[in-house]
Amino acid sequence: LGPTVCVGEILVEIVATTVGDGFREAQPLIGPFASGAPAIFISQCGRLGGAAAMVGAVGNDDFGHVNIDRLRRDGVDVSTISIDPDYPTGSAFVRYRKDGSRDFVYNIARSAAARFGWSQGVRDLINRSGHLHVMGSALSVPSAREVIDKAVDIVKARGGTLSVDPNIRKELQLDEDTERRFARLVSAADLLLPSGEELERAASVSGEAEAIRRLFEVGVKEIVLKRGSLGATYFGRDGDRIDAPAFLVDEVDPTGAGDCFGGAYLTCRRLGMSPDEALTYGSAAGARNVTIRGPMEGAGTRQELDAFIASTERRS
Ligand code: ATP
Repeated sequence: LGPTVCVGEILVEIVATTVGDGFREAQPLIGPFASGAPAIFISQCGRLGGAAAMVGAVGNDDFGHVNIDRLRRDGVDVSTISIDPDYPTGSAFVRYRKDGSRDFVYNIARSAAARFGWSQGVRDLINRSGHLHVMGSALSVPSAREVIDKAVDIVKARGGTLSVDPNIRKELQLDEDTERRFARLVSAADLLLPSGEELERAASVSGEAEAIRRLFEVGVKEIVLKRGSLGATYFGRDGDRIDAPAFLVDEVDPTGAGDCFGGAYLTCRRLGMSPDEALTYGSAAGARNVTIRGPMEGAGTRQELDAFIASTERRS
């Protein structure tokens, strides 16, 4: 039915190579790495050989080309990534603390990432796409909202499917309008990919079982709950549940695990695999990505993921 399209922010990420508190002192950094959760997702789709396209914007600068070149190499159609002549490519600086939490310095709100909009090129792409992937966090970017609203309507009307990664922290208060949009997006999702507490946030209820029940009731077709190093769980509307144990790896950089997992799971499902098989590839993609520094540097091809699966133990 056409390519998987992902709409959202494209950034570069610059990562501290030492663990510590914040950025107030000079320290060794490494980067720029291509990044932005939607870009990581679509990179993994492209690497696995699924037809994939990205809608977003970068500045007319080297950081923009880091992203465009990377996604193009991954097999992603980059023709609907616009180049903003006035604003720079968004960037994020990341440093890990000893407890695993992260400090960020973001330059996104006044970057190209927050300014892309609807265009004839985007319309043409959406008109031939078979699947749309959206992150809940994009709903707080005004220009992205219009693209998402229109794209969801068009894709659904032509029989395509929608996946949603809620990507919204439990405690984050959304304004009424954004909350309504978020609920609408969730209920339109054929595949929902929450991690941890986002499941209850998306369902607006407490308790895993109750949240799953409510989400199916509002129209979600398939749910995959991501649990970090504890693995992932598939829930089907018919009551099916499949627990996928995580692969045992040494985590170097957790950024991007959820997006690689989601991109791989979705691509495998679109290529006709069962939920069980898709969970294996998703789990492998997430686990492999955390072993390599950089947000999408560990996204794997089919061959790389097959080799990873064959050579890596899973939690029992
Ligand atoms: P992020 O927001 O950092 O991209 P997320 O919270 O959306 O991540 P996670 O649950 O952290 O998603 O990771 C997605 C999947 O990747 C997990 O369900 C698991 O299969 C795999 N994974 C993530 N971290 C690890 C790890 N340390 N070891 C093994 N597998 C992992």
